[in-house]
Amino acid sequence: QIFMPLNFLGFVYREIRGSMANIDKMFSLLDKSSSVSDAEDAQELTVSKGEIRFEHVSFSYREDRPILKNVSFTIFPGQKVAIVGASGAGKSTLVKLLFRFYDVTAGDISIDGQKIRSVTQQSLRKHLGIVPQDTVLFNDTLIENIRYGDPSADESAIESALETAHLSQFIELLPDKGDTRVGERGLKLSGGEKQRVAIARAVLKNPPIMVFDEATSSLDSGSEQAIMQALSALASNHTSVMIAHRLSTITDADNILVLKNGELAEQGSHHALLAQKGEYARLWTLQQKQED
Ligand code: ATP
Repeated sequence: QIFMPLNFLGFVYREIRGSMANIDKMFSLLDKSSSVSDAEDAQELTVSKGEIRFEHVSFSYREDRPILKNVSFTIFPGQKVAIVGASGAGKSTLVKLLFRFYDVTAGDISIDGQKIRSVTQQSLRKHLGIVPQDTVLFNDTLIENIRYGDPSADESAIESALETAHLSQFIELLPDKGDTRVGERGLKLSGGEKQRVAIARAVLKNPPIMVFDEATSSLDSGSEQAIMQALSALASNHTSVMIAHRLSTITDADNILVLKNGELAEQGSHHALLAQKGEYARLWTLQQKQED
């Protein structure tokens, strides 16, 4: 008679101990002060077209080491633009600055003519969507993980997000379909499946500007193809920015920004850049050789 209750108490004790560790982590995160804050007279960002402009942007994480140097470019409304460059060239940093996770050291970034420093961070991030390399999944059902993109989304919006993200067939094969628990304590998803969850979230959120961070680790070719199809559906009526590691995935981009040691070395279409025989052509030849 006493064994079951004691066993249960042991279980509860272990659960509480685990939760306390998480609560500690949460409080230490909440205590962290942000280096970025809203200006006193910060306005709400309004996005009608989705034009992004970097003007003479320089940035360094530490004073003694410049990461981006005098970078200027414009991404026009509805364009699909790729950012490429060797590892450490500053591609992710450029996107972090667009989200204003850090403030630029010099220069300005604006969206539809409004400097991102002069708008509220909340309104800025409402208009930006990101499909990261590694998506965080909560210990919840697959559908709830997707609904995170827009908590007010109804069933039909979720269905269509699943369709766009090429997840509908995948869900049918799961033990409890959309109610299957995923995340640390649930079903583990592959890198490609997780990215498709992030795409479905982004489809639900439907922001005018989308950023996609291509996975560096290679995905199986079925997953890769599904992701590319989902992305082109997502990019069709948005301004989209893609951090690309494999150049073969962005040959159809409207414009390719080539970063080299924190500087914008070149920009243009795939064919124009190949003809230029510069940094992009060098990276392209290198990757072709590796693929061979
Ligand atoms: P990869 O293709 O490998 O992802 P990347 O082009 O995206 O590289 P970034 O991640 O932007 O490059 O990094 C640019 C430089 O900034 C690197 O030298 C990196 O070590 C440095 N860096 C990145 N994040 C930080 C940080 N939080 N603090 C200090 N230095 C950083």
